[in-house]
Amino acid sequence: MKLMTPGPTQVRENVRLARAKVTGNPDLEAEFYDFYRDTCRLLSKILHTENESFILGGEGILGLEAACASLTEPGDRVLVLDNGIFGKGFADFVTMYGGEAVLFTTDYHRPMDPAALKAFLEQDHNFKYATVVHCDTPSGVINDVHALCPILKQYGILTVVDSVAGMFGESLDVERAQIDILCGGSQKALSAPAGLTLLTVSNDAKHAINNRKTPVRAFYANIKTFFTYYEDQWFPYTMPISDIVGLRQALDNVAAEPDIVSRHACIAAAVRKALTAAGVKLYLDAGYSNNVTVILVPDGLTDHAILDTMKRDYGILIAGCFDVLAGKVLRIGHMGENANVPDVAETLDALGRTLSSLGFNVQADMKSVFLDAVRA
Ligand SMILES: *Cc1c(COP(=O)(O)O)cnc(C)c1O
Repeated sequence: MKLMTPGPTQVRENVRLARAKVTGNPDLEAEFYDFYRDTCRLLSKILHTENESFILGGEGILGLEAACASLTEPGDRVLVLDNGIFGKGFADFVTMYGGEAVLFTTDYHRPMDPAALKAFLEQDHNFKYATVVHCDTPSGVINDVHALCPILKQYGILTVVDSVAGMFGESLDVERAQIDILCGGSQKALSAPAGLTLLTVSNDAKHAINNRKTPVRAFYANIKTFFTYYEDQWFPYTMPISDIVGLRQALDNVAAEPDIVSRHACIAAAVRKALTAAGVKLYLDAGYSNNVTVILVPDGLTDHAILDTMKRDYGILIAGCFDVLAGKVLRIGHMGENANVPDVAETLDALGRTLSSLGFNVQADMKSVFLDAVRA
């Protein structure tokens, strides 16, 4: 099955081979602490920040929960920027750790407007931190974290950003965006297998965590336990060493491709052009991400019929959706290793044939529109 989902994504052979290397004992060998630190430093460098990064053993959701668990104290007010399913989902982590989540909800079909956030904050800005999603994968919307987070910081509000599905395919400058805790995952544009969380933590966030009045109500999700791993040569649990060796290769792959964001942008624009030429409707009105394109299930068709035909007749896996978008949209993940011209062309070709076979009037040859657009 060809994976064309918005995560997990395809994994390059050198990453798979790196994971097969003979490894030592990550608890007991000083070399591992150096390797881990170098890998975290490489991540910070790619993200344009001197903030310290950490790799946690656990799928990307762990980072979202860990940020909220580590920052939230009972009674803290937290602003949850909600223009998508992951955006809204942060409220659960906030309340779970005793915080009061205040939702700022805007249209799910477009990015969060910095001016609207500014106007909201003029009325109410008594928040310990705010949560923002960079690329909200279920709708594919991209939020301008470089505009939104500095507005929050002006009011002294810490920023937690979920860029699990944004980083590496979208431009992201953590320093310029003034992000306090950035959350990432291994299985999206980085194209390593699922299983690791990436966190980048500012000094302001460290200060807030180190100066809590109450202890963090979590162990596995407590970021503080990582702050002194190198001095202490101690991790709170045995690090998944093979996963991290694979992740390092994936980060080296990203570091070796300075134009990685333009590769994603070029493919994404061509995908949208092909889909709209064929008469397929995009879910969003604005704010299309480079990493995933979300289309409306055409009237009279079902997501299951399209997904099943794609799998059965063409061996291609794209994704449906969940929560409020369940059954309504389909998602093509063109991030990381998926973002290559032959695979995307093949996917669009298969989608066109699938829609035709199900009775939809496909108005253009999506593969040729796509290929013309990427070559232009
Ligand atoms: C993929 C993703 C995560 C991680 O969650 P899973 O659904 O478990 O893969 C978190 N946030 C966003 C925006 C994601 O796309």
